[in-house]
Amino acid sequence: MYLKDQNISIIGAGLVGSLLSIYMSKIGAKTSVYERRGDIRNDINSSGRSINLSLSHRGMNALQEVGVKDDIMSIAMPMYKRIMHAVNGQITIQPYGQKDEAIFSVSRKELNILLMNLAEKNNVEFNFQSQCNSVDFKNTALKLSDKIIQSDFVFSTDGAGSLVRKQMQKEGFTDSSENFIEFGYKELTIPPDLNGKHKIENQSLHIWPRKSYMIIALPNLDGSFTCTLFFPLSGKNSFESFTNKLDLMNFFNKYFNDLVDLIPDIPSQYYINPTSSLGIVKCYPWIKNNIVLLGDACHATVPFYGQGMNSGFEDCFLLNNFIKTSKSIKDFKSMLPAFLQSRKNDTDAMQDLSMHNFVVMRDKTADNDFLIQKKIERMFSKKHPTRWLPLYSMVSFSNIPYSQALLIGKRQSKIMEHIMSQRNIENMSDSELENLILSMIDQ
Ligand code: FAD
Repeated sequence: MYLKDQNISIIGAGLVGSLLSIYMSKIGAKTSVYERRGDIRNDINSSGRSINLSLSHRGMNALQEVGVKDDIMSIAMPMYKRIMHAVNGQITIQPYGQKDEAIFSVSRKELNILLMNLAEKNNVEFNFQSQCNSVDFKNTALKLSDKIIQSDFVFSTDGAGSLVRKQMQKEGFTDSSENFIEFGYKELTIPPDLNGKHKIENQSLHIWPRKSYMIIALPNLDGSFTCTLFFPLSGKNSFESFTNKLDLMNFFNKYFNDLVDLIPDIPSQYYINPTSSLGIVKCYPWIKNNIVLLGDACHATVPFYGQGMNSGFEDCFLLNNFIKTSKSIKDFKSMLPAFLQSRKNDTDAMQDLSMHNFVVMRDKTADNDFLIQKKIERMFSKKHPTRWLPLYSMVSFSNIPYSQALLIGKRQSKIMEHIMSQRNIENMSDSELENLILSMIDQ
């Protein structure tokens, strides 16, 4: 393999940097990771930041390729369905896919630790408290506070606030934008019950959709749930508006009444846990000479499709495929910009899908017509799996490129609009609905 014995430096030992280091060391490169923080394996305090994430097919596929999927699955909890909690406490259930299809809840910290341990087993060298202060694009070097590291290639997986991306922008090598949305998030925890068990159904992702805001909850292995409140940053009913406990609890009692019973200390969690912002990072190109951006550093997204990490993991998988298909370093270098361009098209689509799913989660999941539509799609997809894979399944349970999923999803959406406009839809038989969809697909 032509990259064997090349020196590869990775900036950032987050989720993507740690997985990428395993890929690089498996192809025989001498791989070193430089992380500005201390070693999180020695850090016992990590609450208040998104502590669990949903891992789906693209991420798992990338983990499988380097033989670490089973390790990660040992710390993951399956979520087979969405459970929606209405204001009046009524519950609606919607399976994510066909039987046995699940996305998985996994602790960010546990996942990161496991990936670093597995990388070390594969001879990756981690350097902590090693902040990269700048890079030298001409000499493929990174400057730490006490030394300069020269490499053959540098992969910068330093997250949404990427210093390398900012330097590329400053030096005119990329065109970059960071767009924050008007919503932020805050985490709240549903503790386990007195027996250490989950207080609500634990193989599901729970949603409290309230049109212009929502709370979601993902299960943790220790019996707790991590909830995320997505809320406007300003205006009436926003993070800015609840300056006292009474107003806050009146609001929760009115809109999230069942959560008040599940979370005993809402005010203290609410006022202690930070409010964080949400945004979309775009830039292009992702490369200057032998220094390449990957993961959130070049395509951070809003978390509503659970695709940020999954797409970053898919970057690693696809880069590895690309490395395998190029025959020499010369080939690799000359074709890399084209590979990154095609990946950029897909992650742009992933970002569009993520924004779109915010509306679906906070608004549509509370809507009866939407639930009927999803049921019809599942029925049709089960009968004609090669002709119709619902958009959620294309994104979360397949490797179909995001840009293609977006395109097919738009076509499906038009068909479903027509189907849903039929009078008496609830009384139509499955075969009537099936024939109607078939007639439209075949047009
Ligand atoms: P990061 O995880 O941010 O890692 C970057 C690393 O680089 C960090 O360790 C940082 O310390 C280090 N670093 C930064 N600068 C330097 C420097 N100058 N020198 C050295 N080191 C540096 N994704 C999903 O797939 N599913 C989900 O359910 C999901 N839920 C989310 C919920 C929320 C609320 C948020 C905010 C995000 C969510 N995401 C989710 C997105 C996911 O967290 C990110 O996409 C993922 O963490 C990106 O990984 P990364 O390695 O690119 O960046």
